[in-house]
Amino acid sequence: MRVTVLCGGVGAARMLRGLIQIVDAADLVAIVNVGDDLELHGLSVSPDLDTITYTLADQVSTERGWGLEGETWQAMEMVNRYGGIDWFSLGDRDLGTHLYRTHRLGQGASLAEVTSEIVAAWELPLVIMPVTNDRLRTMVTTVDEGEISFQEYFVRRHHDVAVTAVRFSGAAATTPTPGALDALRDADRIVIAPSNPAVSIDPILAVPGIREVLVERRADVVAVSPIIGGKALKGPADRLLVELGRESSSVAVAEWYRDVISTLIIDEIDAELAPAVAAHGVRAVVAPTIMRDTDSARALARTVLEQG
Ligand code: GDP
Ligand code: CA
Repeated sequence: MRVTVLCGGVGAARMLRGLIQIVDAADLVAIVNVGDDLELHGLSVSPDLDTITYTLADQVSTERGWGLEGETWQAMEMVNRYGGIDWFSLGDRDLGTHLYRTHRLGQGASLAEVTSEIVAAWELPLVIMPVTNDRLRTMVTTVDEGEISFQEYFVRRHHDVAVTAVRFSGAAATTPTPGALDALRDADRIVIAPSNPAVSIDPILAVPGIREVLVERRADVVAVSPIIGGKALKGPADRLLVELGRESSSVAVAEWYRDVISTLIIDEIDAELAPAVAAHGVRAVVAPTIMRDTDSARALARTVLEQG
């Protein structure tokens, strides 16, 4: 079965870890958000692509859930000493990835080419691609500071400031990565990972052509709700839904995605919300959705593939 997954960072990485155990990796494609990408110290950093690669390569820090196992921070200590930008931590091992990516982009390689080189170097058998090779940046309008970049909101302000709007700068001028639309057209199942709808999945849908294919393929699109019992497991997805005029629940996720999905997997704890999800024209499937470990991720992956 060919499976194509729309991905943010941590939630998507966990979903892929489950899927890769039951789908032939040659039939698995991850299309990844780039709205979180940033330039720091002259380096090109792609947090969601790296979270996915590091997780599937079994390199991710189990303690932090992002970044690398066995990481050290000596380079950041030096930057800090000089009074440089130190609010976004880049570990010493992680820096190697950004050095390599920046160098290859400078040579004229596309982000998709560099990503496939990195994925190959970790001997990962699936395709991981940025949704676009072009520049797309998520911008967040805050009450106190006006518009700031996504990482200034997420990391520098610890997503602890009031938000009134989200915008995907540059999106209209982007084109999908070669192969992305085909991966969506040819898939037997399209999965929207349990990622943040407002800032991880929406930037993917903002790339011209992507949303249109999903609308056409709606019957085969299954999403997993990132909201469980009204809360996000991590990050600001719950708060952002409310700040952007919705409620923090799986019902709001169903409403958010109603044009592009036919099925939403909601957590057991939210079983009583199934009729309200259905009222949005989305089939609700109740299952355990917390991916604590490889077994729970595999079980959720199985549930996702059983739909349709
Ligand atoms: P980020 O880019 O690392 O912030 O991550 P994502 O956008 O992929 O995802 C953040 C969202 O994933 C949060 O709203 C979490 O609630 C959700 N999430 C993370 N792990 C899980 C999980 O095991 N199950 C479910 N259902 N959602 C999860
Ligand atoms: Ca992210």
